[in-house]
Amino acid sequence: MTIATQVFHVDPVHPDPAAIAAAAQALVEGCLVAFPTETVYGLGADALNAQAVERIFIAKQRPFSDPLIVHLASLVQLESVAVEIPAIAYALAERFWPGPLTLVLRRHSRVPPIVSAGRDTVAVRVPAHPVALALLRACALPVAAPSANLFSRPSPTTAQHVLDDLNGRIHIVLDAGPTSIGLESTVIDLTQSAPRLLRPGGATVDALRTLLPDLRTPEAPLVTSETEGAVSPGTLLKHCSPRAQVVLLMGEAEAALHFLRKVVPMLIERGMRVGLLIFDEEAPNVANLPATLVTAGSQRDPAGVARRLFARLRALDRLGVDVILARTMGQESTRTGLEMAIHDRLFRAAEGRILDVAAPDAPDLLLGHLSQLKEERER
Ligand code: AMP
Ligand code: MG
Repeated sequence: MTIATQVFHVDPVHPDPAAIAAAAQALVEGCLVAFPTETVYGLGADALNAQAVERIFIAKQRPFSDPLIVHLASLVQLESVAVEIPAIAYALAERFWPGPLTLVLRRHSRVPPIVSAGRDTVAVRVPAHPVALALLRACALPVAAPSANLFSRPSPTTAQHVLDDLNGRIHIVLDAGPTSIGLESTVIDLTQSAPRLLRPGGATVDALRTLLPDLRTPEAPLVTSETEGAVSPGTLLKHCSPRAQVVLLMGEAEAALHFLRKVVPMLIERGMRVGLLIFDEEAPNVANLPATLVTAGSQRDPAGVARRLFARLRALDRLGVDVILARTMGQESTRTGLEMAIHDRLFRAAEGRILDVAAPDAPDLLLGHLSQLKEERER
C-alpha cells in the first residue's frame, strides 16, 4: 500500500508551529513521521504503541532483530522508559543531552518489547535539533526513531535522501535542510558491569572518557553477524552501504596513487565503472584517472567529512558506478574524535574489505574481492 507522503518545509531553528502540530498529531495517531535531528534524519513512531513501531520496521524493511532508539524531549521523561537507572546515566545525560549520545539502559515494562527487538534493555537519547525537540514536546510521547533510510543504506542527512528511500511508505517528512553532524549518535551500554562503547558516533570517546574513564572500546569496529544474537545490531557488518561495492584503501598517498594508476585501468578493462572517494589533499593526484571522482573534504576537517560522507556515498550510487575505491580516515590506532566514527561507517560501507595499498599483492586481492562479489551477486 502506498501512502501519500506529505513534506513540510520548516525553519531549522523556529519551525512553524502548525507543521509541528500536524506532525505531532500524526504520531499520536500511530503514523510515521521523518524528522531532522542533529545527527541524521530519524523515522519516528509512538514508542508506546507496538503497532505504530511495527510500521517503522515494515517501512524501512528493517529486520525485527534490530532495536530502535527512543527519543525524549528531556531527561525528565527518562524514568518513564527505563528502570534501574545508574547514577552515571544521569551524569552523562546532564553533560551530553540534548546531544548525539545514546544510552542503553534497562527497559521499562511499558515500552513494548518490539522497540528493543525483544531485549530487556532500551536505547534512549534526547536529540539537540530544535525541530526534533519541538516535535517531541508537542506530541508528549517517547518516540522510537531509527535513521529514516531503507535498511542497510547510508543514513539520510537531507529530506531528499529520506524521500529517495521512503516516499510513499511514510506519512510526513519535516524538511529542515541538511543535518549538522551527519553521522549517527554514539551508543554506550550501561547495563553491564563496565560501560561499553557499542557504536562510535557524534559524541567522541575522548569527551566521554572525562566521565567514563573505564569506557571499554573495541580495537577494531565491532562486527556481529545477523544470526549470532548481536550485542548491538547496528554493528552488522553491512551497514550504511551504497549499492556499489566499496573497498577501502589504507596507506600513504604516494602508494595509493601508484595503486590506483595500476588498478583503475584493470577494472575498466573488466567492464566496471569505477568511483573514487578521496580526500581533498589527494584529489589533484587522481584527477587524470578514468574514474568518477568524488571528494569527501579535507582529512584535517573530520567534522566536514562526517557531515558529507553519507551524501557522497549516495551521490556515487546515483552516478552509476559499480565499484567505489575509498580512502580510509586517519591512521590505524591513532584515530581520535570523529575519525573513529567516520572509519567505522566506511568500514561497514565496505563490509570490512580493507586493502593495504603498499602490499605487492594488493591489486590481485582487489580483483579477487570483486570477482567474488560478482559471483555472490549473480547467485
Ligand atoms: P539507528 O537509529 O538506525 O542508527 O539504529 C539504532 C541502533 O542503536 C541499533 O542498530 C543498535 O546498534 C543500537 N541499539 C538500539 N537499541 C539497543 C539496545 N537495546 N541494545 C543495544 N543496542 C541498541
Ligand atoms: Mg540506521
